[in-house]
Amino acid sequence: MKITLKPFAIIGLVSLLSACATSPTGRNQVLLYSESQMASMGDQAFSSMKEELRVSSKQVENAYVQCVAKSLTPLVPDSVFNGEWEVVVFEDEQINAFALPGGKIGVYTGLLNVAKTQSQLAAVIGHEIGHVIAHHGNERMSTTTLTNLGTQAVAQVIESNEVAYSGAIMAAIGMGSQVAITLPFSRAHESEADLIGLALMAQAGFDPRESVDLWQNMEAASDGQRPIELLSTHPAPQSRIENLQANMQGALADYQRSPNRPVCRQ
Ligand SMILES: [Zn+2]
Repeated sequence: MKITLKPFAIIGLVSLLSACATSPTGRNQVLLYSESQMASMGDQAFSSMKEELRVSSKQVENAYVQCVAKSLTPLVPDSVFNGEWEVVVFEDEQINAFALPGGKIGVYTGLLNVAKTQSQLAAVIGHEIGHVIAHHGNERMSTTTLTNLGTQAVAQVIESNEVAYSGAIMAAIGMGSQVAITLPFSRAHESEADLIGLALMAQAGFDPRESVDLWQNMEAASDGQRPIELLSTHPAPQSRIENLQANMQGALADYQRSPNRPVCRQ
């Protein structure tokens, strides 16, 4: 015997589970997972990355990345993470970095050739921390959960009506939700992370104007044969530069007010 939940029951369940929140730039978000669930997923992902990738033991390189990252992390709200951040440099030519819930930051050595100054590195790390502050991982997972539940509900309607080619229809729905939800969503996340990163770097005492230099370097580096992961899923460099410049005045005021002037040497 097959037990099926009626679509209405599923929708009811989803709305019961839903937790509505507002992102730092005022977007409505659905966050289904708790901060501690996200932190333990971040811990697990980070542990397996440390096993799979080569961790840099170069002292100067590590000290430099630690110095930049730890200038930014004190600005993360306690409600997001209030423990000791772990910062690891991975020996990998990828031009990339990431931050995970649970206070984890990873920087690939390839990034250090493109983020040429401490402020440019702060722009990238600030952006990655911005994703964590704005709960983007949680939002993405929550949306996937809801999309899957919605897809299941539709599948049951199709099954119960014995519609022909339901497999093809389901594929189309899967594809449709991919295009309609996941992609624009990720652009919104990128712009939001850029603005949070800009504010973080300025408040930490890094010159926010260097965020523009960073994206220009990224664009120049992407002319080579290597695809840049940071760019492939992200808005065009020109549109993100415009977004940053539109918010530069406030960032410069933050920078001038900041008592901090980090000196991190490479
Ligand atoms: Zn991003």
